[in-house]
Amino acid sequence: MSSTYHVRGVVLRRETWRDAARLYTIYTREAGKLLAVGRGTRKLLSKLGPHLEPYGVVDLHLARGRKTETVCGAIMVRPPDPFAADERRYLAVSFAAEMVDHFVKTGDPDPDLWRLIEAWYADLAVVPVEHVDARLTAFVWRFMSHLGYRPKFDGCSECGRPLRYEAARFLPIPGTAACGACVLDERALAGCETLDHRSVAAIGRVLDDASSPPPAHDAAAFASALAFMEARLDRPLSSLPLVRAMMKAKAYA
Ligand SMILES: [Zn+2]
Repeated sequence: MSSTYHVRGVVLRRETWRDAARLYTIYTREAGKLLAVGRGTRKLLSKLGPHLEPYGVVDLHLARGRKTETVCGAIMVRPPDPFAADERRYLAVSFAAEMVDHFVKTGDPDPDLWRLIEAWYADLAVVPVEHVDARLTAFVWRFMSHLGYRPKFDGCSECGRPLRYEAARFLPIPGTAACGACVLDERALAGCETLDHRSVAAIGRVLDDASSPPPAHDAAAFASALAFMEARLDRPLSSLPLVRAMMKAKAYA
């Protein structure tokens, strides 16, 4: 086995490391999530550093290590500059990176997950800012579903009635929905959101068809996706409160 190899990846996270180095968390097409040390990347005239900006897509030449890889070479393929255009977009991509880093363990290449993550970053670079929330909602549902966490909307969890033509209460902790008539205990109702039948149908399309365009903005669907994800975290995500605050502020005048 060669001691160096090439991968393409998205930089999820960057932190300071020993000396003038940084430690990068990168989700790669070939090797899944990995940690790589970039020597000298904190120096002003570092050659590597500018290619390893967070949320950029980068081609890497890596040397194998026991716990972390070492970056031997890096070429930026898609710079993250468009994400800096507005705060909403930047928050959406940084939140997505934190969420992916939280749920995905190192190793384990996963081509479908790579496609989902790579397409999300490509899309967020160009989508008009008023569509950012809807795109993030779709990404959260698809990402969680890919991990095996799939919400159930097909019928009321209590009485079994189909919820196709009526408003449903989404219960983020069990990830199920209930009709308006059934009585639920307080624990089940924690974080509950009422979704109209159009929202339920739109979430179904997002989950069933990866190529279906994300629906229009829907504040209740956005809140439901975040609550569903939050109920499955091991520890809080630092950007989640910021995303919730963003949700309340309008995307455009
Ligand atoms: Zn019911």
